[in-house]
Amino acid sequence: MSHKAILFSAPSGSGKTTIIKQLMQYFDCFEFSISATSRQPRNGERDGVDYHFLTPDEFERRVQAGDFVEWEEVYAGMRYGTLKSEIERIGEQGKVVIFDVDVNGGLNLKRYFGDAALAIFVMPPSIEVLEQRLRTRGTESEESIQKRLGRSSKELGEADKFDVTIVNDDLERAVSQTKKVVEQFLEK
Ligand code: ADP
Ligand code: 5GP
Repeated sequence: MSHKAILFSAPSGSGKTTIIKQLMQYFDCFEFSISATSRQPRNGERDGVDYHFLTPDEFERRVQAGDFVEWEEVYAGMRYGTLKSEIERIGEQGKVVIFDVDVNGGLNLKRYFGDAALAIFVMPPSIEVLEQRLRTRGTESEESIQKRLGRSSKELGEADKFDVTIVNDDLERAVSQTKKVVEQFLEK
């Protein structure tokens, strides 16, 4: 596998999406791997941009067809996965692929890419702050917030399996630290 990959994992609400967006504005060699999901789009999310939004049946059909590199049922009844076609599309463009995946997906992709991947864990300052950020984001129902928080302590315990941990307390500092480790990785 010659193409480099950068993968971001963290409990939901830690700030992955925010950090990835800033990084993509700064570096022009990146292309985001658009995952497939069976969850409903949030307000403002676009099909084929934020995710490929699939019905549960269509998601299952693509699993059976062997179209995924990895997939997880991240929350009960909600599946998310990386399509092989995304990795091929980005590889053909000669770009570095960026992933935003859950912790299991991150560890699976790290195995898949080996040394060609930099695996970054985005750590929230605390579970309390994580909860506050999920609430402030205003995109989730109470049930969805509880599902997300319910997974977070187990996910936080897996940070040491990643190459780098970025603590996202002050956003500017977290982004500048991320830029630094990414630059070092790209130079290798
Ligand atoms: P994730 O993609 O990991 O689920 P988001 O990037 O959507 O997380 O961030 C969750 C919420 O927290 C968003 O409303 C975002 O604007 C906010 N946020 C992200 N980073 C910080 C930070 N360092 N300080 C305060 N708020 C932040
Ligand atoms: P959200 O619903 O907040 O967009 O995402 C929920 C969780 O699913 C996040 O932890 C996100 O990183 C993860 N996720 C998104 N896409 C994928 C994917 O392709 N594979 C896996 N394993 N997780 C994903």
